[in-house]
Amino acid sequence: MNKYEILKKYFGYDTFRNAQETLIDRILEGKDTLGIMPTGAGKSLCYQIPALMMEGITLVISPLISLMKDQVGSLNQAGIHAAFLNSSLTTNQYYKALSFARQGRYPIIYVAPERLVTEEFLDFALHSNIVMVAVDEAHCVSQWGQDFRPSYLKIVEFIERLPRRPIVSAFTATATKEVRDDIIDILQLQEPMVITTGFDRNNLYFGVMAVKDRYGSIRNYLEAHRKDSGIIYCLTRKQVEEVCERLIKDGFAVTRYHAGLSDQERRNNQDDFIYDRVPIIVATSAFGMGIDKNSVRFVLHYGMPKNIESYYQEAGRAGRDGEPAECILYYSSRDVITNQLFIDNNQDNKELDELTRTIVRERDQERLRKMTFYCFTNECLRDYILKYFGEYGSNYCGNCSNCLTQFEQVDITEMARALIGCVKASRQRYGTTVIVDTLHGANTAKIKNYRMKENPYYGVLSKVPVYRIRQVLNYLQMEEYLLVTSDDFAIVKLTAKSGEILEEDRPISMKLAKEPERQTKETQTGGRKSKRASFGQALFTEKEENLFEKLKSLRLEIAREEKVPPYIVFSDKTLVHMCVVKPNTKEEMLRVSGVGEFKFEKYGERFLKLIH
Ligand code: ADP
Ligand code: MG
Ligand code: ZN
Repeated sequence: MNKYEILKKYFGYDTFRNAQETLIDRILEGKDTLGIMPTGAGKSLCYQIPALMMEGITLVISPLISLMKDQVGSLNQAGIHAAFLNSSLTTNQYYKALSFARQGRYPIIYVAPERLVTEEFLDFALHSNIVMVAVDEAHCVSQWGQDFRPSYLKIVEFIERLPRRPIVSAFTATATKEVRDDIIDILQLQEPMVITTGFDRNNLYFGVMAVKDRYGSIRNYLEAHRKDSGIIYCLTRKQVEEVCERLIKDGFAVTRYHAGLSDQERRNNQDDFIYDRVPIIVATSAFGMGIDKNSVRFVLHYGMPKNIESYYQEAGRAGRDGEPAECILYYSSRDVITNQLFIDNNQDNKELDELTRTIVRERDQERLRKMTFYCFTNECLRDYILKYFGEYGSNYCGNCSNCLTQFEQVDITEMARALIGCVKASRQRYGTTVIVDTLHGANTAKIKNYRMKENPYYGVLSKVPVYRIRQVLNYLQMEEYLLVTSDDFAIVKLTAKSGEILEEDRPISMKLAKEPERQTKETQTGGRKSKRASFGQALFTEKEENLFEKLKSLRLEIAREEKVPPYIVFSDKTLVHMCVVKPNTKEEMLRVSGVGEFKFEKYGERFLKLIH
């Protein structure tokens, strides 16, 4: 089977996403690769598909048990033989899996890094044909990353012991240069092809709310999103406890997760969330890596995280299925202090020498500063994040709280009249600075020399900030109500249209960012389009909304039978697609994104019947 057939048959998708195909081709050519793609971009397919096409076994190194379980569950559901080897197996199970592996039953085996150099595993590896080692969450090898795992250093040791060096592929969502260089160096990738895809996740809405009553705002949000599943991140365990308790009192079905709970409770609560038994989880940053639940519709932050990397990773757990989802940060100035304390008391840095510790602290401080700016910027929030990662956005995304509320249509008739009047009264002789200063009532040398205080417009806009007057001047120039000569003097001149503003009674307005003092962030997030609008702009009718709920119930029923999380049966996106397409036949059903042949055999008929 070729890669397209595999994509369709096992995963049910028609097309690869941007970078997937390139990465797959490179691996198939036998080359080392490093894929840097944001959460939800589809990194797993990049090693799973080559693994199914190559002769031999692919080992996938993954940092977390939950993550392996999830991925192997998905593969098995798609009809692919795969297994995981980690400490969640009993000794018996472990040996059984290993013996199946020896027989070549699994093309894909997930393994915890600390297992690699154990005797039994090495014995198996040395006598098998390991064709690829795929390192997932590869930033874990880097001390500069946020999730350094010493056991990841064993990967290189392991590879060196193999009789034949396998292809090494690595994948991460962390884009900073330090981490990327570390991955290449430490994993000793050979002439790797490095592919970085754009970091924009355009299905995510970003919002910042600086509100007095954070709890109340979050409660309101949850009330308005009763049917959705989401994560609420808190900065401290104590906050998790408090928020969770209050929400339960207020009648919400929520669970909690932080490092202070027993292993057992953590596992149970996480499963409750993943299996859709409880829609909302309140958690510290300890929760998340390896949470592949792809139908998370919102990620709320009760408090500001320590840096943009963490924020984008946590927020990025929303909307992995590509459907619209919301990421809202509820900010309070106390968050800066809390984070400062975290930096000052960072236990992880205790082992570092003095100099390194200072460097790390300064770096953390700088990251915190950039994170804090995020909460205050008037710019497009998405643009701010992308710029942080070194990308350039379009300044105005139309899908963040700043774009939607920080820009307003402002009547500028008075300002326009003053500007044009001033130019006319000074007989079109002066440059932009003099004009702006005159209107603002400045007292510079030029103003005195040119005797601008005698101009009837002197100081008439003294209450308007200079940058604002400039913005209006630029706008008038763009709209050709004024002209600025393109020589060094930049003299402001009138145009044929100038008279329309001065003489006629015509109002003029433009879009301007709101003044910081007047921001009313409380009123955000309202007035947007229905959530499921992304599917070819299709808005659900009431009937489709009903069908969607019914499909979800069927999915839950099947998930319970199969003992897998619902999203592993079909993603939200696939269900949405079914509602839109309303397939009648097997052929039509197979055209739905996410329905592969294997899954069709298993549950296709039941869904067809329900839709019918
Ligand atoms: P990552 O590891 O990059 O965070 P995953 O590999 O978990 O992302 O994939 C995220 C989601 O995208 C999964 O639900 C996956 O099935 C889906 N997906 C991956 N590739 C495609 C594709 N080519 N078309 C449609 N959906 C895809
Ligand atoms: Mg992944
Ligand atoms: Zn924006």
